[in-house]
Amino acid sequence: MYGLGIVKGMAITFRNFVESYLDDIFWMGKGGRYYNDAALQVRQSLKGEGVVTVFYPEEKLSVPERFRFVPFLVTDDPAPGQKWGHDWCTSCGICAKVCPPQCIWIKRGTQPNGRPKPEPEEFFIDIDICMNCGLCAEFCPFDAIKMDHDYELASYDRTTAHIHDKERLSKPISYWREIAPKKAEAEAAARDFAENSKKKKKSKDGEDGDEPRLEETTVRQLPYRCDGLITLTWSGASSA
Ligand code: SF4
Ligand code: SF4
Repeated sequence: MYGLGIVKGMAITFRNFVESYLDDIFWMGKGGRYYNDAALQVRQSLKGEGVVTVFYPEEKLSVPERFRFVPFLVTDDPAPGQKWGHDWCTSCGICAKVCPPQCIWIKRGTQPNGRPKPEPEEFFIDIDICMNCGLCAEFCPFDAIKMDHDYELASYDRTTAHIHDKERLSKPISYWREIAPKKAEAEAAARDFAENSKKKKKSKDGEDGDEPRLEETTVRQLPYRCDGLITLTWSGASSA
């Protein structure tokens, strides 16, 4: 019948209108229907009654674990009294190479003897150009760059505030465990497995398996320096 769809739609709207007021009354003595985390959780679930509008920015929806916004750099948890922990990034440059819009810039550190240091001295990401694809995080062989959940990055000063430097990008591994617990746990298990496999292989070959992390990461970069991107990517994948 002509117009039946309109009538049904209006009926749904009217039902939501009435249910919103009933829900208001229900939550009246429990902190209110709005600006209340408990009420918001119910409103966004299948048990929600009435309109489901979220009053952003006062109310915010939690994002799923695999949500991704601009990347951040992983560091060790800082020691007491320290601001930063050890950088996981080895400055290998793979993320910068695979980044489709080319919005990553890295300056590798230098050791006192002039040789390259497997740590970034500077690291920049232009978040206005970043398209949040996550390829940098996917390709990083050291789990050193991850996609953040912090999406509130708007500012009036595009020229300076939107180019994130190393200090702005660095966050401790405990932050990653907090926002993506399942993924962080799976990655830690994969790293442990890879380390144990290497130790077993080295002890089988008659070598001591306890080599310091810096030397290990340097060794993993050697194929990249010699043979280029594909070799390092495969080297990282095969060791994981
Ligand atoms: S791929 Fe990972 S380790 Fe290499 S430069 Fe990027 S963040 Fe650093
Ligand atoms: S998320 Fe994609 S676009 Fe953004 S820095 Fe990483 S690779 Fe580049």
